[in-house]
Amino acid sequence: MLLPNPKRILLKLSGEVLMGEQDYGIDPAYVLRLAEEVKAARDTGLQICLVIGGGNIFRGMAGAAQGMDRAQADYMGMLATVMNALAMQSALEQLGVDTRVQSAIQMDQVCEPVIRRRAERHLEKDRIVIFAAGVGAPYFTTDSGAALRAAEMRCDALLKGTSVDGVYDSDPKRNPEATRFDTVTYDKVLASNLQVMDASAVALCRDNNIPIVVFSIRERGNVARVLAGEGVQTIVQK
Ligand code: UDP
Repeated sequence: MLLPNPKRILLKLSGEVLMGEQDYGIDPAYVLRLAEEVKAARDTGLQICLVIGGGNIFRGMAGAAQGMDRAQADYMGMLATVMNALAMQSALEQLGVDTRVQSAIQMDQVCEPVIRRRAERHLEKDRIVIFAAGVGAPYFTTDSGAALRAAEMRCDALLKGTSVDGVYDSDPKRNPEATRFDTVTYDKVLASNLQVMDASAVALCRDNNIPIVVFSIRERGNVARVLAGEGVQTIVQK
């Protein structure tokens, strides 16, 4: 069991999971299936903050590698996360779940700005709050955005739903001998440079004692399993 009774969690989804089986972009049917899992968790009484990456559309590093100005490319990446947030909002609303998007880059016509007290009120009213545009600054990632929002919203845990089912001692795609940790400390992740989240995100979680649960969101039903302390996952903690 992850925590005796988590009341509020932050769920971070990599942008790439929104692609479903596609190579790029957003698969609305797959986003709907993700939304069903989020709704089921919300329906248990859990308060849920969501952060969604943008890697299915654009990553600043990729733009920079092709000669773009890094900061400019990062802003494009942040805009991609807003598109993903709107797609998830649309899916959740199709399921009847009230949702608000709060963006770290202000865009009044499409969503709210990040206002912590307002986000609190949304959560109290059983709304899901999707935090978009990461921390709102280049040279960061949505992992750091997720850690920041988890800290400021005082979440009991940060759940990272991604394409791999946990944290390994080496890259499982390249090394068939790679072994998965059930639990691992923040310090080990940082010292061994394990691929969980970027170092600033891990450090922020460590300093605020927020456990990070890494699990595969591709397996249907895994959000509920992870919340029940079941299934395959890695917990990063003290
Ligand atoms: N990004 C940024 N600052 C942030 C969050 C995101 O500059 O606070 C940019 C960065 O270019 C990043 C892109 O947005 O590559 C998409 O986010 P991320 O790579 O974290 O998405 P994920 O890998 O989770 O899909």
